[in-house]
Amino acid sequence: MPADIQKPRVGISRCLLGDPVRYDGQSKANTIVLKQLSEIFELVPVCPEVEAGLPVPRPPVQLTGSIQNPKLTGRDDPAVDVTGIMQQYCHTKPAELEQLSGFIFKSRSPSCGLNSTPVFINGECVTEHSRGIFARAICASYPELVVIEDTELEDTSTLNRFISAVLNT
Ligand code: SF4
Repeated sequence: MPADIQKPRVGISRCLLGDPVRYDGQSKANTIVLKQLSEIFELVPVCPEVEAGLPVPRPPVQLTGSIQNPKLTGRDDPAVDVTGIMQQYCHTKPAELEQLSGFIFKSRSPSCGLNSTPVFINGECVTEHSRGIFARAICASYPELVVIEDTELEDTSTLNRFISAVLNT
């Protein structure tokens, strides 16, 4: 793509870019993102947990209590409850992202997972196909946004559909 043509802006869960922002201080660098999609899109990194004010490292959290309206509580210490802090962040952040043509989410995350996040009720996993709190807020704010999660990038036809859909917005 010529340098003077503006690339579509696509949001991305920041850990997929290789930034060490995960709860354990690690990243989830994604080769397809770094080698292929970064050439086509202007990637806009977002780590909702860090931007909401949580530290790195931090206690791991999970969705709990309800599939429809879950809390975000500690995986190892249920007394940890960061639901309020994340809800507050999700109330304001989506408005800053109105220029985006797409979003690439990190799978299984209680904040970023798109269709792959587990929910636990009374210690039992009741679904493995729910949506993280931040991904939910973005999809509610922008129902037409072209979205995908990292695990889907591995399927070439799904990847190509995502690229085409973003380029055609
Ligand atoms: S999955 Fe989302 S909240 Fe978790 S480290 Fe990555 S960007 Fe941050």
